Amino acid sequence: EPLDLPIHEEVLGTAALHPDTPALIDGVTGRSVSYAELDADVRRVAAGLAEAGVRKGDVVALHSPNSLAYPVAFYGATRAGATVTPVSSLATAGELAGQLRDSGARWIITVSPFLPVATEAAAVLAAEGRPVREVFVCDASDRHRSLADLLASTAPEPGLSFDPAADIAVLPYSSGTTGLPKGVMLSHRNICGNLLQTDAVYRPAVGERILAVLPFFHIFGLTALLNQPLRAGATVVVLPRFDLEQFLRTIQEQRIEGIFAAPPIVLALAKHPLVDQYDLSSLRYLLSAAAPLDADLADACARRLGLPRVHQGYGMTELSPVTHVLPQDDLDPPRGTVGRMIASTELRVLSLDDPGTELGVGERGELVFRGPQVMRGYFGRESETDAMIDADGWLHTGDVGYVDERGYLFVVDRVKELIKYKGYQVAPAELEALLLAHPQIADAAVIGVTDGDGVERPKAYVVRVPGSVLTEEEVTAYVAGQVAPYKKVRAVEFLAAVPKSASGKILRRELRDRAR
Ligand code: ATP
Ligand code: MG
Repeated sequence: EPLDLPIHEEVLGTAALHPDTPALIDGVTGRSVSYAELDADVRRVAAGLAEAGVRKGDVVALHSPNSLAYPVAFYGATRAGATVTPVSSLATAGELAGQLRDSGARWIITVSPFLPVATEAAAVLAAEGRPVREVFVCDASDRHRSLADLLASTAPEPGLSFDPAADIAVLPYSSGTTGLPKGVMLSHRNICGNLLQTDAVYRPAVGERILAVLPFFHIFGLTALLNQPLRAGATVVVLPRFDLEQFLRTIQEQRIEGIFAAPPIVLALAKHPLVDQYDLSSLRYLLSAAAPLDADLADACARRLGLPRVHQGYGMTELSPVTHVLPQDDLDPPRGTVGRMIASTELRVLSLDDPGTELGVGERGELVFRGPQVMRGYFGRESETDAMIDADGWLHTGDVGYVDERGYLFVVDRVKELIKYKGYQVAPAELEALLLAHPQIADAAVIGVTDGDGVERPKAYVVRVPGSVLTEEEVTAYVAGQVAPYKKVRAVEFLAAVPKSASGKILRRELRDRAR
């Protein structure tokens, strides 16, 4: 029964087939870890965590940037029976405390540079009468036990049995783009099932070199850069953050074949002159997901990298996370598609005006899905779970899209982000794409701003390229020249940078706060 393995066995059960292949390489130091070493370390860390007191069902907060230690901590904790709640490496002490409180985490695994944040968050919880039991570090500290200490444990591994359908492997928090982040309960079966569902459209080869720059703490990075490649025996080259120069150098030096990216990385690759100075001939594919990507921008990026196209995938935390991927070997996809549906998934497109009505080919509506990847629910939020998953098991994404006659999916935008201008609907993603096509615009974001008269109007936040003196009037006229009158941008504000999350999403909440 392939669906009934816990995540660490589904992912690392194949390690013995290619023990000497590098599982991970540190893109900065060049240090590498073989599959045999990774598997052994995960087992010993699991034993060490169990000896330290971690029990089946305990929640462990993993708060670390990408590193070679990350998967050791992650799979070590699930192997010890814990549920891992990954924490953004940008989290403040208040945000970490919030996630610890909400998830009921009793253990923290972090890195020494984050100890001030972890210590402050732990103090907040101690004051509330539910102290964190222990803080471990991945690297080294004189005050906390490290992974090296856990690895030194001689305790036997606990003989645990898992119920993959019921046991929660991961409790990721949604990105908080539309509201407060919510803890998403993903069972071992949710995660492993989604890996199996994706096999037919994407499976790297043993030793294939994949660049991991997206954060492991976001579900996209966790799936595309750890679970999937490690299960297939690929080699994951790890970078702690996106720095364009380091990113390009690593592609060249490590002969990277595959990249998973979010739109801000695609934007940088399409627009930055530095790209032409590196030998990127090893690259075979780049897949972008997590936010809308304009087709022109994707094409510009593909041209710079010498690739036939940029592939997209689509998913969300609540869907473990994948529903659509553009297959590697698809030679004739329509421009702008996020891909084809993966196995064992059902999709309906529902009318936005009349939510009970199912729409047909080419019609835009809310995407709703059913399949083994639908989450178990939001942790501790029953009413929000019920609002998201209906009685028949369909998950309502809040995203607007359509399917063409060949079955390719297109994502327009989020229902909540659509700007309602005098009865018309304007998709910010469409205006953002137009703005990004302007040679003097480095980045852009659009939100709806409601004025004193109660009318919501599109407002653009624009980052000019260095040296540009582009004016508000020029931006407004440029957009007006290309769209129907109701889509015109009605206000423009220039910014130094568009606020974005570590996983590559525009933080519209921050722009809305600014507009107020
Ligand atoms: P929150 O649910 O907390 O508001 P979030 O929805 O941004 O945050 P995630 O689960 O990380 O949290 O993101 C999933 C969303 O990302 C999808 O619902 C969709 O809006 C967007 N998305 C993912 N892939 C794509 C894509 N290829 N094109 C357009 N949008 C995408
Ligand atoms: Mg969401």
